[in-house]
Amino acid sequence: MSAPSIPTAELNQQLKALLQAASESFQQAASLRDLYDLKVRYLGKNGSFSNLMREMAKLSKEERPTFGQAVNEAKAKLEGNYAICETRLTNAEVLTRLTAEKLDMTLPGPVVPNGATHPIYSVTREICSILARLGYAVRTGPMIEKNRYNFEALNIPEDHPARDMQDTFYIDREHVLRTHTSPIQIHVLENEAPPLRVIGFGAVFRRDSDVSHLPNFHQIEGLLVDEKVSMADLKGTISFFVRELFGADLKTRFRPSFFPFTEPSAEVDCSCPVCRGKGCALCKDSGWIEIGGSGLVNPNVFKAAGVEYPRWKGFAFGFGVERMAIIKYGINDIRLFPENDLRFLRQFT
Ligand SMILES: [Zn+2]
Repeated sequence: MSAPSIPTAELNQQLKALLQAASESFQQAASLRDLYDLKVRYLGKNGSFSNLMREMAKLSKEERPTFGQAVNEAKAKLEGNYAICETRLTNAEVLTRLTAEKLDMTLPGPVVPNGATHPIYSVTREICSILARLGYAVRTGPMIEKNRYNFEALNIPEDHPARDMQDTFYIDREHVLRTHTSPIQIHVLENEAPPLRVIGFGAVFRRDSDVSHLPNFHQIEGLLVDEKVSMADLKGTISFFVRELFGADLKTRFRPSFFPFTEPSAEVDCSCPVCRGKGCALCKDSGWIEIGGSGLVNPNVFKAAGVEYPRWKGFAFGFGVERMAIIKYGINDIRLFPENDLRFLRQFT
């Protein structure tokens, strides 16, 4: 048995100095990483405290427990200090990151290119919303139609020029690309019970192309079916529609005309929305501009669709949407609509 070569007082002194030095270095650690390295240096398996514990072997048997307890208390105190420093540094690092990554809400955002509604659809939507106020509901139909819906049920007989191959895109002997939106009326008359107020619209197709005609253009039309319907009701509806679309000061007039599906039929003119009736290039100095066709539903159409006549009567009217857009926006070439030239389309954003 060897006698103790180091007195307890000296080891206690070393322990005190070590705790002091470790606590101070924890306080001064500049980052979590440094703090962790210091923890390993002082409290690790081969750290300063473990080394000091080894010195305990030099103490007498009686002195060892007291010193061992003192070392453990010092370690516990240091671990408490470590926890405090760790919290402080963690908070500081989070704060630094939050500051560095802070969003500046006043910076302008990235510019997202904004699309716009095509003028054809803007006008269609506007017309629908005007007619909706009169109680009209929207209906659509297929673009490929049976001959029966495109022609026969609309009182367009076999020998009518509209059926000519030069005017119509035939899919096969029985089917065509619809040449007008009127087939929608037949679908509605077959499937819905009067009284009715409906709008049909969409793309139509004809073998035609020049400065004022396109092979693919758009129509919108209205159909009203009720027990008492006259040309006066039709005129009232169209006058309201024209005033709402082009301006309250515009007048409407009917010119007698012929359409297979209406009887009597009338072409609809309104006073020129560009010159307000004074005369300009658009109205060819007449002060009037043609906007569409209309009339009372031909009894043959009711008969073909199975609607009881004369109990039910009706009127119908139709407009070319491109023509409406041309008038409304003062566009001089109908071919601008399908070109999708951005310089043209951007003018409607
Ligand atoms: Zn004019």
